[in-house]
Amino acid sequence: MKNIIYPGTFDPITNGHLDIAERAATLFDQVMIVIANNPRKNSLFTIDERIDLIKDSTSHLNNVIVHTTESLIVNFARDNNSVALIRGLRSISDFEYEFQMALMNRSLAPEISTLFMMPDEKYMHLNSTVVKEIAALGGDMSTYVPEVVYTALKSKLSK
Ligand code: ADP
Repeated sequence: MKNIIYPGTFDPITNGHLDIAERAATLFDQVMIVIANNPRKNSLFTIDERIDLIKDSTSHLNNVIVHTTESLIVNFARDNNSVALIRGLRSISDFEYEFQMALMNRSLAPEISTLFMMPDEKYMHLNSTVVKEIAALGGDMSTYVPEVVYTALKSKLSK
């Protein structure tokens, strides 16, 4: 069984993340979306909230599961017998950072590859930070996030 890890912060999951997860789900037996729990990053949603939002947003994909880890992603991948990591690539600006990460991960765990996928072009400019900024300023981001995320953002930001 080929199992792949899709790691990230997912604060919150957007339609861009979902696009990548859907593509990966057609290629691998199992996709594990793994929330990297980095206490140094200030997040809007708690880990549990992010897990629930991802579960709800991927309920139509029966080979996608959600996990969280505080350990190194390559160690998590090894422990779970994953063949590879998947990352989304939107633009040249993503490339530099992703290239570095992929090479560092390969040096730590040569048996685990990093694969890059491009989302549909309508999500190329999308990231979680932009979504949160638009939402905080009262803009409509309903076409960029799953419905559950839209509702969660509204309620979180109205508090
Ligand atoms: P990280 O902090 O690891 O970058 P993110 O949650 O921001 O975590 O992103 C996780 C992964 O999803 C990264 O590979 C990122 O490039 C990818 N990603 C984020 N937004 C999009 C998008 N709109 N389209 C495609 N991939 C995306």
